[in-house]
Amino acid sequence: MPDEFELIARYFTRPVRQAVLGVGDDCALLHCGPGRQLAISTDMLVAGRHFFPDADPFLLGHKCLAVNLSDLAACGARPLAFSLALALPQADDAWLEPFSKGLLALADAHGCELIGGDTTRGPLTICITVFGEVPADASAYPVPTQAMLRSGAHVGDDVYVSGSLGDAALALRAMQGTCALPARLLHGARARLEQPTPRVALGVALRGIASACADISDGLMGDLGHILERSGFGARVDVDKVLPLLATRQAYGGGAAQFDSDLGARTALQCVLAGGDDYELVFTAPQSQQGILNALSDRLQLPLTRIGTIEAAPGLRLVDARGNTVPQNFAAFDHFAAVPGLP
Ligand code: ADP
Ligand code: MG
Repeated sequence: MPDEFELIARYFTRPVRQAVLGVGDDCALLHCGPGRQLAISTDMLVAGRHFFPDADPFLLGHKCLAVNLSDLAACGARPLAFSLALALPQADDAWLEPFSKGLLALADAHGCELIGGDTTRGPLTICITVFGEVPADASAYPVPTQAMLRSGAHVGDDVYVSGSLGDAALALRAMQGTCALPARLLHGARARLEQPTPRVALGVALRGIASACADISDGLMGDLGHILERSGFGARVDVDKVLPLLATRQAYGGGAAQFDSDLGARTALQCVLAGGDDYELVFTAPQSQQGILNALSDRLQLPLTRIGTIEAAPGLRLVDARGNTVPQNFAAFDHFAAVPGLP
């Protein structure tokens, strides 16, 4: 049986005809008037699969749009509008009112208009298609766009990630009872899982600076893996740079060493590298952009951490401070390879 990405490649990937960019990136691109392109992305959230059926409806409304805005951010597109397709088990005001409030509060914060959708009875499923705009660039080859693509990384580029990583996955484990977190830390980690911040301003600012970009929805290894695959290169990632990105581990009573002793160093590594649901950006940039990226990080008050380098040899190599390879077999989240349940 094909996995999620084989399935898409085999049955639903066709050569681009009128579109600027088709299947395989965070957004598709369509021409829409001189000098402008429409960036489009769809994400579906299914109860029991992507969220607990009793999830707080206000936070769920926020998250449904946030995960879509995150794909626009990955391309550097400015949000314009979205459509909302809903399957609901019943028309429950007590659920619909907070859901719509959470959804529309984030929409308003980004000037992203709700322009239509569809509503039906069925198992709770929320499907959003978001539309954004990016400037065209007739001189860009092979895709005439200023949008950031997954395919633009070059050998020698630095690899960066924004913000923190892995706390959403850690919160999910704690909520499922497979690890214990003090209440104060669980609260912060749950906010990362339930109310992610799409990095829209960062995405727009990275246009022209980053050579390739993706958002981290399926885990760092998997989403950086997409960049490597589509760019045709490999990367070396420094484990000592990524582990401190797990904010809960840094804030743990007794510090990172105590976290590792209580919850396991492997738990930390697994959450940071393969956790998913982070909605941060992973991007590559030529070394010459380092100063500009530091200034951007200051301006946006958002850490941008250099975690590795693009190399010619394919594959992803995780190395420690001494340059030794750290064995890892973390794959991207795959809906058809994983055991049933919440990802
Ligand atoms: P993302 O996580 O950024 O939403 P995915 O990794 O889920 O993207 O999807 C990979 C690519 O495959 C994207 O370009 C997406 O638009 C495309 N895709 C996913 N499902 C389908 C489908 N059923 N038909 C056509 N394209 C699809
Ligand atoms: Mg994406």
